[in-house]
Amino acid sequence: AGWEEERGRLGTIRVYCRVRPFLPGQSDGQSTVDYIGENGNIMIVNPCKQGKDARRVFNFNKVFSTNETQQQIYADTQPLIRSVLDGYKVCIFAYGQTGSGKTYTMSGPDLTTEETWGVNYRALRDLFQISKTRMNIIEYEVRVQMIEIYNEQLQGIRNITNYIRNNSQLNGLNVPDAYLVPVKCTQDVLDMMKIGQRNRAVGATALNERSSHSHSILTVHVQGKELVSGSILKGCLHLVDLAGSERVDKSEAVGERLKEAQHINRSLSALGDVISALAQKSTHIPYRNSKLTQVLQDSLGGHAKTLMFVHINPEVNAIGETVSTLKFAEEGC
Ligand code: ADP
Ligand code: MG
Repeated sequence: AGWEEERGRLGTIRVYCRVRPFLPGQSDGQSTVDYIGENGNIMIVNPCKQGKDARRVFNFNKVFSTNETQQQIYADTQPLIRSVLDGYKVCIFAYGQTGSGKTYTMSGPDLTTEETWGVNYRALRDLFQISKTRMNIIEYEVRVQMIEIYNEQLQGIRNITNYIRNNSQLNGLNVPDAYLVPVKCTQDVLDMMKIGQRNRAVGATALNERSSHSHSILTVHVQGKELVSGSILKGCLHLVDLAGSERVDKSEAVGERLKEAQHINRSLSALGDVISALAQKSTHIPYRNSKLTQVLQDSLGGHAKTLMFVHINPEVNAIGETVSTLKFAEEGC
């Protein structure tokens, strides 16, 4: 069933898998993806193993192959944006090892060409477009917030030029520099993202490194006022580019890197635990085990809707991470 048919139903979790293409200069001779079947199947082949141990099938709600466009990746997500405007809470995650294409899916490689825009901008573009069609019935206000979680510390990202220092509370957690900025169109969001990038705690060269080791959350708060009744609805969309899921060899990582790795590990497994508890309709959902799940608590479970894009890198040397990524993601199905 599509999201559309699920509207009104209790919370739903969907998992989509995306396979990154080989990049220029990478050998495309050998891929660990044996085939992508109908109905969300993907078969992985491990060239280091023999016989029946070498192959394994995983199943998701959908699997996208390497040649699918940003538009095709986003196509099924649009009904979720409609839900946000109807007052639902929605989380969209990108999960995968560093270099597997998380940022490509969420932001895209280049903000200047709309064709390659990722989920974030497409979602916001639709949000504004759909809200316009309802103009005579509901008056919407949209506000956007950027947050980063690094080493289990929350940090807002300053996304406006003129500002008064402001700390905000999120589910009882203190977030320094968390600005909720009113936006009226997609261009406002693009401008805000640019300012945010410039104001991040680290310089441009360290930015990539840092973004691989932190979770970044772009939250869109929507408030709608029904013009006739005056009643208010509140929806919210979290767009989450997670830290790289690769496990770090304890014998190699030391100091800061080891600490980072442990924090990432812990928070990603806390997220996995929450998602699998929700998928199993468990009565206890362990939100308190990480800052990530605490921040998103109101938007995971209950009536909220969750979509996780899991990313894999088809290179042979990534096989270990590919298998553990797919195992992690299957828990949510
Ligand atoms: P991550 O955020 O998971 O670390 P990136 O999104 O930065 O990974 O992707 C790593 C590299 O692969 C980048 O150079 C990116 O442009 C490229 N890439 C990722 N996904 C795709 C894709 N679907 N098509 C083309 N290039 C991609
Ligand atoms: Mg990234």
